[in-house]
Amino acid sequence: MSMSSNQDWLARSQAAVWHPCTQMQHHVQTASPGHLPLIPIASGKGAWLYDFDGKRYLDGISSWWTNLFGHANPRINAALKDQLETLEHVMLAGFTHQPVVELSERLSALTGGALGHAFYASDGASATEIALKMSFHYWRNVGRPGKARFLCLQGSYHGETVGALAVTDVAIFKDAYAPLVRAATVLPSPDFRLAETGESPADVARRAAAALEAHLEKHGEHIAALIVEPLVQGATGMAMYDPEYLRLARQLCDRYEVHLICDEIAVGCGRTGTFFAHEQAEIRPDLMCLSKGISGGYLPLSIVLCSDTIYEAFLDDSVARAFLHSHSYTGNPLACRAALATLDIFESDNVLTANRLKSARISTVLAPLAEHPKVRHLRQRGMIAAFDVATDDPHFSRKFYRAALEREALIRPIGNTVYLMPPYIISDEEIAHLASAVTDALEEALK
Ligand SMILES: *Cc1c(COP(=O)(O)O)cnc(C)c1O
Repeated sequence: MSMSSNQDWLARSQAAVWHPCTQMQHHVQTASPGHLPLIPIASGKGAWLYDFDGKRYLDGISSWWTNLFGHANPRINAALKDQLETLEHVMLAGFTHQPVVELSERLSALTGGALGHAFYASDGASATEIALKMSFHYWRNVGRPGKARFLCLQGSYHGETVGALAVTDVAIFKDAYAPLVRAATVLPSPDFRLAETGESPADVARRAAAALEAHLEKHGEHIAALIVEPLVQGATGMAMYDPEYLRLARQLCDRYEVHLICDEIAVGCGRTGTFFAHEQAEIRPDLMCLSKGISGGYLPLSIVLCSDTIYEAFLDDSVARAFLHSHSYTGNPLACRAALATLDIFESDNVLTANRLKSARISTVLAPLAEHPKVRHLRQRGMIAAFDVATDDPHFSRKFYRAALEREALIRPIGNTVYLMPPYIISDEEIAHLASAVTDALEEALK
């Protein structure tokens, strides 16, 4: 086993594993410009991943936005080892345990008590499904079954299961399955790149909110919820927008009696500068989805937090009024313990404050790119930095990805959008390493 090299694992993986979000043919055709290398990872430490041939890669996108405090983090490892010796799993229907209780209490406290109960699942898409079902079922329970439709934003991404695709507006994930999906209404995005001459980001937000208002005025009585990714729409290519949109959306949802669901799966856990992104608009949602970073990037865990009003509408002697949703691993103790260790690190290391310096550092090192003739909309919100590249090359993203790997960096553009979303333990030297990898890979990919 220990003698295995990259080549062996590559061949065995291609023969047996169907990799996610991948045209598997791109792994095979090594000579094509669309080639996507498959990299067997032997180990990880801090911000670095190591392959079987001793090559290393700086994890510039936190392993799909999940890893906050580095790979093989000693404190999370220690918590998990302890939990492993205590309780690995117990079903959460009819049973409870220390990690799930403590995690629920701490997350509720982080919302200032506005969201009093936590419901558990394993992946982000399941959290979306749960939030949609909860909202729909709430309206039924309070005698308004006509409120059954959902609103989402252009370019939104809330996961890829059939229910979550209803509120996802990214063509490559959705188009093939359109006949299976009961699509939601897609409303204009407040993405500040859509600014017309003379418009500020807040103006774009107000224009998008006016479209929301016009829709609610006509159809509000049929609408259960609006779901948004607060401040940054990740999967569509790091579209960023002004908090003004969330403030106005909150007011409109209140006025037209529509739930506001904040999908904080990507932007929660400090990513945008505050612990939850919605805090920057000084609002609270009715329902919030968390996943990705909440377990520190260790284990599949997702959570839906809801207001007491929603929770209480399900309380009744009748089982039919209850929320009967479940997954086998709901509230898994190991995953919850990883999340508790993650929250401990936020507190003991004053992470939000420390990240302010890191995000300023990232802005500084990327700033020269603003002058690059092919770079558009260099933008940043906390620990997410992005820019678009003006090119018609359909292979740009994979060319850039390969060029970055050759420079010891894992940076995986979304279409023509290059972004950095590093783990919070990244050092100044590592930030500099990422910036030079970005600059050089950009030249190489544009050749
Ligand atoms: C990743 C993501 C999801 C889906 O999470 P999975 O764990 O991949 O199912 C949902 N919403 C947002 C905003 C995401 O970034």
